[in-house]
Amino acid sequence: MDAIEARLKALLARAEDCLARGAASGAAQARACLETLDRALLAGLWRAELAGGPGSFMDWLFYRKGLARRLKAGGVRADEDLLRAVHGGAGSPRLILLVTHACQLRCDYCRVRRYPARMTPQVADAGVRWLLGSLRSEVELQFFGGEPLLALDIVRRATLLAESLASGRAKRVRFLLTTNGLSLSDKALQFFRDHGFSLEFSCDGTYQTQLSQRKAAGGKDYYARLSRNLESLRAADIPYQVIAVVTPESVGRAQDEFRFLAGLGHRRIQLNYALGRFWDKDAAKELFRQMAAVSRLAAESGVAFVNQEAARREPVVLNSELTVDCDGGVFRETGVCLEEDFREMKRRFLVARVPGAGLFDAHASTQFDNLALLIGAYGRGDLRKTLLNNLGIGLRFLRKPPWKGAAG
Ligand code: SF4
Repeated sequence: MDAIEARLKALLARAEDCLARGAASGAAQARACLETLDRALLAGLWRAELAGGPGSFMDWLFYRKGLARRLKAGGVRADEDLLRAVHGGAGSPRLILLVTHACQLRCDYCRVRRYPARMTPQVADAGVRWLLGSLRSEVELQFFGGEPLLALDIVRRATLLAESLASGRAKRVRFLLTTNGLSLSDKALQFFRDHGFSLEFSCDGTYQTQLSQRKAAGGKDYYARLSRNLESLRAADIPYQVIAVVTPESVGRAQDEFRFLAGLGHRRIQLNYALGRFWDKDAAKELFRQMAAVSRLAAESGVAFVNQEAARREPVVLNSELTVDCDGGVFRETGVCLEEDFREMKRRFLVARVPGAGLFDAHASTQFDNLALLIGAYGRGDLRKTLLNNLGIGLRFLRKPPWKGAAG
């Protein structure tokens, strides 16, 4: 491990040197250097973890923040280029507002709904102001729940405020909303069209699969309503994609679900393998077989299989969006899919509160940061096996995408 550590130290020293010079070209080089460092750290930590323990890799946790502190203490002027190089190259430009925990459904894999809460206008405003204070020229605001359409007043308010702040600061803000679709009205669609939203519509596919994984309160049959609303979205002039969750139990039907959704005329479909579930050898093998088959189907039918797009970052378990919950607590979404207990997860991954969370970009994290955080939280507990399993699946997608060579 000594050789790896020496290489990492050399990379970090180069990044510090570029940053200390502070010029625009120095910042660009530093960003490239920090990205290389992140990749090396992620690979090293993964190998160390498989060998039995993270050892000194944990010392590197959030080294970007340490770097920023050292630069400041050393009297380096924190101009925008410098800050962007340290913070802006890492993490996501997206903030998620979790506007309500309420939902009409009782999905098997839901973590949030059990803790009733609704976002106040004050918290929504504070979250939007925080995001729009970012150093980035383009940011994303995503509405999530629970079911965000049950708090459409908060969605509207936050959207209007974000637009007004963005135009005053020459920024571009992109809006996204993830919905189960049951409360999708013409009025809501009109609002989304007028404000340039992209939608993610959760639907696991056929009647049988949808109703077995995503039951409604009291076991009500809501499928006709879901189908009507999905069709309204298809006919509306709004970019969207359908997202279906695939579990180890349902994986054998993945290509049938994709074919079904494509047959309804949907042009962008994403299949999410369930996180927080253990994929044994047979289930994992089937997952890769099904994904290769789906890729062929997509190519034949001209439907976009979103999993193949570069924007979908694997390993998904290491993706981390900053999320503002109803009470103003900001947590890293990393771990939300692993932890059964949403309150416990929030306690572990709470990073700030709005208002008063400081610079949005300063909370950026890389895949290495997220893995280190997850290992710190679950490295010894029951979830260690699941974490390493889900991570292994993601790394396999990254290294050997099943759609490479699947055509024909
Ligand atoms: S639709 Fe979403 S919020 Fe509602 S129960 Fe299902 S997973 Fe939970």
